[in-house]
Amino acid sequence: MLWHQLSERVLQGKQISREEALQVLAVPQEELLELIAACYRVRRHYHGQKIKLNMLINAKSGLCAEDCSYCSQSIVSKTGVERYPLQSREVLLEGARQALEVKAHTYCIVISGRRPTERELKAVTEAVREIKEKFPLRICCCLGLLNDEEVKRLRDAGVDRINHNLNTSEDRYGDVCSTHTFQDRTETIEAVKRGGISSCSGGIVGMGESDEQIVDLVFSLRDMDIDSIPVNFLIPIPGTPLAGIEYLTPQKCLAILCLFRLVNPSKEIRIAGGREFHLRSLQPLGLYVADSIFIGDYLTTRGEVPEADMQMLQDTGFVPSLPPGWEAKSREQELPPEQPVSLASATESRDR
Ligand code: SF4
Repeated sequence: MLWHQLSERVLQGKQISREEALQVLAVPQEELLELIAACYRVRRHYHGQKIKLNMLINAKSGLCAEDCSYCSQSIVSKTGVERYPLQSREVLLEGARQALEVKAHTYCIVISGRRPTERELKAVTEAVREIKEKFPLRICCCLGLLNDEEVKRLRDAGVDRINHNLNTSEDRYGDVCSTHTFQDRTETIEAVKRGGISSCSGGIVGMGESDEQIVDLVFSLRDMDIDSIPVNFLIPIPGTPLAGIEYLTPQKCLAILCLFRLVNPSKEIRIAGGREFHLRSLQPLGLYVADSIFIGDYLTTRGEVPEADMQMLQDTGFVPSLPPGWEAKSREQELPPEQPVSLASATESRDR
C-alpha cells in the first residue's frame, strides 16, 4: 500500500474503503512510520501543530447498576473502586480551576450510572453555569443516556459538548454489555445532535474485537458525523470481567489511531484511556496522528503526570490549543503565560 497516496486521496475529500481500512490495521511493522507520516499530513492540514488538552473529573464514582464489562464502576466488577455520589459544586469548580491551570481546552464532567437523576442534572447544570461565568473553558458532560429535554437543559446551561461513546461495533455490543443496547447509545447521540450540541463519541479497542469490528466502529462514527472521537485502549483492570485481556501492542495502537484519522480526517481524534499503558515509549508518535489527549488522571486509573505530558508536547513541538479568553483569565488568576509551556503549573495540578 502506498500510504501517501492514500492520505492524498483523503485530503482531496475522498473516503477510504473498508478494504483499505483493514490494510491500515494490518500495516507491516516496517511501513508503520510511513503510514504515520501520511496521517501527519492529514492531521497538519486540519489541525496544524495544535493539540487539545482535556481534563476529566470523575464527578460521581461507582454505584452503577449497569454491567459494562470493561468498567471498574459496574456492579459486576469487584475492583474496590472508590464510590461516592455527585461531588459538590465547590469540587466541580475547583476541578475547572485546575483544568485552566494545565491549559486544558475542555473540562469533562463525568458521572457513573445509566442516566442522570433529576437532582444530578440540576446540580450539574448549576455548576456548569457558574463555571462558564468564571472560566473560559469548554465544558463536555458525560452523564449517560439522555433524552431531548435533558440535552436542551444542558445546552441552555452552557454545556458545549456531550460525550456518549459507542464503545464497540453494533454486532459486538451485546458481548460487552447486556443492560443497555447499541441503539440506546446511538439514540442519545442523535438527541445530542438534534439539540445542537457538539457530539463526542468514540470507542474502546482491545476488548477482543476483530479488525472488521474496529472498522465497523470507525465507520459508524463517521456516518454519525461525530465531532470529537476519543480512542480508548482497554486497561484490563483486575476485578472487571475483561481483566487479563491484554494483547494490544504499541504498533497496533498506532495503526488504530491512523485508521481513526484517515476515516475521520477533520475531526478531533483523542488518544484517551490506556495511552500510557499501551503506547508506552511510542506515545509521542501518537501525537502526529491524533490532535487531542487527556491530561491528568482518567476516571479510575492514573494518567501520566501533567509535567511529563507537557514535556512531551514541548519536545515534539505541539502547542496546546487554548480556549478563547484563556489569556485574559490567566492574567486575572496569575497563571503563567502561554509560551513556553510551564512545567511548574502542570505539576501543581496533580494535587486534586
Ligand atoms: S460505563 Fe458507565 S454505564 Fe457502564 S458500568 Fe461504567 S459507569 Fe455504568
